Amino acid sequence: VEYFLRNIEQKKHLNIFLEVYQQEALERAEAIDQKIADGTQGRLAGMVLGIKDVLCYQGHPLQAASQILNGFEAQFTATAVQRLLDEDVIIIGRQNCDEFAMGSSNENSSFGPTLNPVDETKVPGGSSGASAAAVAVGLCHASLGSDTGGSVRQPASFCGVVGLKPTYSRISRWGLIAYASSFDTIGILSHTVEEAALLLEVMAGQDEFDSTVSQREVPAYAQKLSLERPLKVGYIKETIESEGIDSEVKQKTLDRIEFLKQAGHEVKEVTFPLLEYVLPTYYILTTAEASTNLERYDGVKFGYRTPEATDLETMYKRTRSEGFGAEVQRRIMLGTFVLSASYYDAYFTKAQKVRRLIAEQTKALFKELDFLILPTAPTPPFEIGKYGEENLIEYYLADLFTVQASVSGIPAISIPNGTSETGLPIGLQIMANAFNEDKLLAFAKYLL
Ligand code: GLN
Repeated sequence: VEYFLRNIEQKKHLNIFLEVYQQEALERAEAIDQKIADGTQGRLAGMVLGIKDVLCYQGHPLQAASQILNGFEAQFTATAVQRLLDEDVIIIGRQNCDEFAMGSSNENSSFGPTLNPVDETKVPGGSSGASAAAVAVGLCHASLGSDTGGSVRQPASFCGVVGLKPTYSRISRWGLIAYASSFDTIGILSHTVEEAALLLEVMAGQDEFDSTVSQREVPAYAQKLSLERPLKVGYIKETIESEGIDSEVKQKTLDRIEFLKQAGHEVKEVTFPLLEYVLPTYYILTTAEASTNLERYDGVKFGYRTPEATDLETMYKRTRSEGFGAEVQRRIMLGTFVLSASYYDAYFTKAQKVRRLIAEQTKALFKELDFLILPTAPTPPFEIGKYGEENLIEYYLADLFTVQASVSGIPAISIPNGTSETGLPIGLQIMANAFNEDKLLAFAKYLL
């Protein structure tokens, strides 16, 4: 803990932690030392974790990096976090992120951007950018993030660490601030696949507080990291040939494909013609869900309330206009639009139908394949400030490779795949069929 606290202090300018629980972490460490001496420690005794500012930790401030939650304190602890605490992890602080997890660069935080530790002029990715940066630069052993459309995998790729998004419903969402409830997952950022497996194993499984969580038994992931070989691996033609893909990212992915062939695995090119519909579907459905989820921040029940209110309606309006940042407001408006009576069928209903097609066709690929591999992001980390309102669509397009797993609810992992010529991290993404985390993790370990 002392080691990490020193590092956190030294790396303060990267703007990774919104708050450090110094005293508490030191005290917990001492208590766990005692347990170790008594032989009563949990399975994760002494593991030091950072948590993204979207996970409830009782008695601690929680803001989703937004001003609208200024002054709010978590009333209970998220199930996933509680299960880790029960196994004696130490939570060292809460981490910066894009406001309400909306973004791919950490620039949408009301606390200012987090810098990429590999190159401080670049973004660390988002929305769990600070959680990835913290692991990369040694401010904690691992972090918990959330992944709705890539928010764990893309920052992992940008910072050179491992990022796991489990199957939707594998881990309880109780105590995770909602962005788009039918997509949201809690994910893990770590150095190794083994750590990700162990953390998943502890967090996953039934929870009386989340009725959507899967009732399936939780395998002992950490003990199942060996593979039966040879494997059947596919890559989607449309991803490798997509327009916006950087040449080095493409080459690194092709190198992996070649490596797998050489190693005797069956590698196959497949096509996925629906790829061009995945992003529009994602952005219509997630903004719709976000607009209803964020309805609750009205100045009455949570955090910030405008001091300027004269009557109830102006109180709502001013609170929300002052409390939410530009990107969040944009998404609320977009979501409200696609859900409005005259556009509901044209956008929302249609996107739901397309979502089902995408999910069915993605899962159908796994009838013949164990895994799909593709880049995590089309480019290495980009410059801070590269995207603004004038090129927002391009910013959204950078999520092209991560949203397919989210729309389909399947697990996916990003692992480091070397660096660009200028030393910037590049990630490789692996997708597997729903609830095949055991195979996915074993394959990731094999490739890492
Ligand atoms: N970049 C995507 C978005 O802005 C994904 C975010 C996420 O997974 N939370 O919606």
